[in-house]
Amino acid sequence: MSRPKKHYGQHFLHERGVIERIVAAIAPRPDDRIVEIGPGEGALTLPLLRAAGRLTAIELDTELIEPLRERAAGIGELEVIHADVLKVDLTALTHGGKLRLAGNLPYYVSSPILFHCLAHADAIIDMHFMLQKEVVDRMAAAPGSKVYGRLSVMLQLACRVEPLLRVAPGAFRPPPKVESAVVKLTPLPAAQQPDPSLAPAIDVVVRAAFNQRRKTLANALRGRLDADAIRAAGIAPHARAENVSPEGFVALARQAHSAGLQVAPKLADNASQ
Ligand code: SAM
Repeated sequence: MSRPKKHYGQHFLHERGVIERIVAAIAPRPDDRIVEIGPGEGALTLPLLRAAGRLTAIELDTELIEPLRERAAGIGELEVIHADVLKVDLTALTHGGKLRLAGNLPYYVSSPILFHCLAHADAIIDMHFMLQKEVVDRMAAAPGSKVYGRLSVMLQLACRVEPLLRVAPGAFRPPPKVESAVVKLTPLPAAQQPDPSLAPAIDVVVRAAFNQRRKTLANALRGRLDADAIRAAGIAPHARAENVSPEGFVALARQAHSAGLQVAPKLADNASQ
């Protein structure tokens, strides 16, 4: 067993009951194309490999790779990609099928990983991820909730979001400082997603609205959408971002798009608002 490295966000799962529940939730079937992000010492990798017969794992830490290959020998066909997952073209891993993603994600980089996966949603059947519970709460939050924000809107426009189980710090070595939770994300069919041409306007409107979440929409969107355009989207100009549903944001983006909104250069993904 290696010494866990903090800078790689290493918290290895050791509680058998938790591992079994995650694997049961994923319910791997033979020949599923499972891609695991951050296999670490293989706590999830080996049972998933046993059930599916093959698995691709993406791991950044060089030292973990050879021991993982040794542990997997004779269990199934394991491919380990030594890379930062943010640099891996997930769509290129499909080989004509679709992927099932899984991972106990490194928390220091979990939002960028989520957005990276969403960019490849067409290639993905579902995703089961362990995250900080606070992040899962934000992903699944409904309008009106204190933690409803940009992450909730962007995730819910792209996926069905289902929190599955809470996991206490003691299930990991070393224990993280926060509680964790497993969430299942299922990309929505294209027909249930906003028109791709609206994506830049959605990005701009949602960022602007939540950057100033205490302000009314009319104020937060000043210079981008006036009160009449907000009303035309079916939303009261004095409403606040936290009370606008994901569909409401699509309606606002449609107004912005048809008004020829100038889309600002995309900022780095930081969905912490
Ligand atoms: N899956 C293992 C488990 O549950 O015990 C390890 C989970 S640990 C929280 C996160 C893993 O992701 C570590 O193995 C770490 O080295 C790896 N990792 C960290 N950053 C990564 C990145 N950018 N790309 C791929 N793997 C990464």
